[in-house]
Amino acid sequence: MSATQSFKGIGASPGVAVGHAYVLDNRRVRTPKVKLQENEIEPEALRFKTAVELSSSQLDDLKEKLKRDSEEGSQDHGLILEAHKLMLQDPMFIVEVNRLISEEAINAEWAVRRVARRIKHQFDNMEDEYFRERRADVDFVADRVVRNLLGHAMDEEVELPKDSVVVAHDVSPADAAMLVRTGKVAAFVTDLGGQTSHTAIVARAREVPAVVGANRASDSIRSGDLVAVDGNQGLVLVNPTDSQLALFRETMRRHQASEATALQTAELRAVSLDGHQIHLNGNIEFPEEIPSLLAHGAEGIGLYRTEFMFLNRTEAPTEEEHYKVYREVLESMGGKPVTIRTLDLGGDKVPGKKPEREANPALGLRAIRYCLHHRELFRVQLRAMLRASVHGNIRIMFPLISGLSELREARSELEHCKSELGRAGVPVGKRFPVGIMVETPSAAWIADRLAQEADFFSIGTNDLIQYSLAIDRQNRDVAYLYRPLHLAVLRSLQNIVRAAKNAGIPVAMCGEMAGDPTYTLVLLALGFEELSMTAGQLAAVKRIVRQTSRNEAQSLLERAMEFSTAEEIERFVRHEMEKRFGGAE
Ligand code: PEP
Ligand code: MG
Repeated sequence: MSATQSFKGIGASPGVAVGHAYVLDNRRVRTPKVKLQENEIEPEALRFKTAVELSSSQLDDLKEKLKRDSEEGSQDHGLILEAHKLMLQDPMFIVEVNRLISEEAINAEWAVRRVARRIKHQFDNMEDEYFRERRADVDFVADRVVRNLLGHAMDEEVELPKDSVVVAHDVSPADAAMLVRTGKVAAFVTDLGGQTSHTAIVARAREVPAVVGANRASDSIRSGDLVAVDGNQGLVLVNPTDSQLALFRETMRRHQASEATALQTAELRAVSLDGHQIHLNGNIEFPEEIPSLLAHGAEGIGLYRTEFMFLNRTEAPTEEEHYKVYREVLESMGGKPVTIRTLDLGGDKVPGKKPEREANPALGLRAIRYCLHHRELFRVQLRAMLRASVHGNIRIMFPLISGLSELREARSELEHCKSELGRAGVPVGKRFPVGIMVETPSAAWIADRLAQEADFFSIGTNDLIQYSLAIDRQNRDVAYLYRPLHLAVLRSLQNIVRAAKNAGIPVAMCGEMAGDPTYTLVLLALGFEELSMTAGQLAAVKRIVRQTSRNEAQSLLERAMEFSTAEEIERFVRHEMEKRFGGAE
């Protein structure tokens, strides 16, 4: 038997799987370099045009194929492929390649690679991992064009054995989606990629465990090797020993059992023993995540992070593109509430041009500040949301509101767009709530005033904790200080909830704290009416709400808040949760 090896990567899609490796050999094709003669330039431009057209029609075919196969009838990964298609039409790409062919007399393959490298470079200095990851998409598109220029076959269907662990240097979204659709992928392992890479997104949407960024796993693993993948821990074991395998199988069994319970309890509501209901919603970045949310019983969408639409592109989406996606999301949710957050772009998350570096991006021109600074970009999105509002149960939410003036300005932009559309005779939903994310200490302190002018609150604890405790949420060195149960956070939450209740507006939470079952009793005690989280977290939170009473939760919170340090409070809460529920998981 071959030697046991292990790889540590990023757990990008939860779940555990054991299967035999299927190593995809999809490293980039070698790009020939040729200097052209004067009379070869025109035919070369034509050759490039044909390859682009072919690439575009291949992406259309793929989209169609995936759509036909999709059981859920959703657009599936169509949007990602659509974004790739848009890159093929991007003038920055087309014009530049043609310019290199004609001015520098180089062959199309080489020109494509050079332009791709330049586009990728624009993403290099972005701090946000999501945008950095988009470099891979540029490669996928360039690769397709180069392969077509060279006459290599594309999108060939591979015969996967059942329960294959697909191992690759990287997997394009097209390949990932095609492979998953065979129903034979047990897990993905890739050398490249991060949490927001497309393999991760496709895998999460289809609930296939994945470990990405696993270094040189694809060099060492051979097709046929037995591979155990833990997508929660980011762990890959190759040819595990019998005892390791037994442990994996046990974890797998537990995961499957809890997933089965989650699906069985999807229809149950989160009502406590004394009748308090908490509405459980889902957070999404892409419409592709909706089928899984619905299967896990989400009652609505509590947070749709629309900035993720700026996927692998250099130009901002058009109003029509925004509109189509929002409409799709609203329609797929079939009348359930959908909270669409306006763009949370920041100084370091600006597609198109190289951003000016801000000394403190988290304290800089971010989210609502950015939108109020770039009015046209904001209006494009608002008009699209308003047009989409007739297709479902929309709620519009502004991020990072730090004072009343910002809320008023944002609302007045919305009103302005509404009247504009009204004058043009475009139908707009009659009444829908317009709320804010409470995620700055200033908003927490003036929550009573904000509650007079916002239709709802949703607390973004990821930022509220970062700003309240002065901890950069991206900085590993201070991660140990990131404590949701810090007394300052709990008092803030109390203040925000109280303000909302006094004003009679609903209060939700959509930060990570909402989906961690350790905190469920604390949140029930505080009086939240709605919590929003990822699909996989819904069942555990629901189980806790259903097994307890609000009174019991309140007495736990009172006792917890008698302690002073975050560590003491956390130790106490964890101990109590363990006693009652045998661990929060
Ligand atoms: C938050 O800050 O808690 C939140 C939900 O928003 P984001 O994580 O997108 O900043
Ligand atoms: Mg936030």
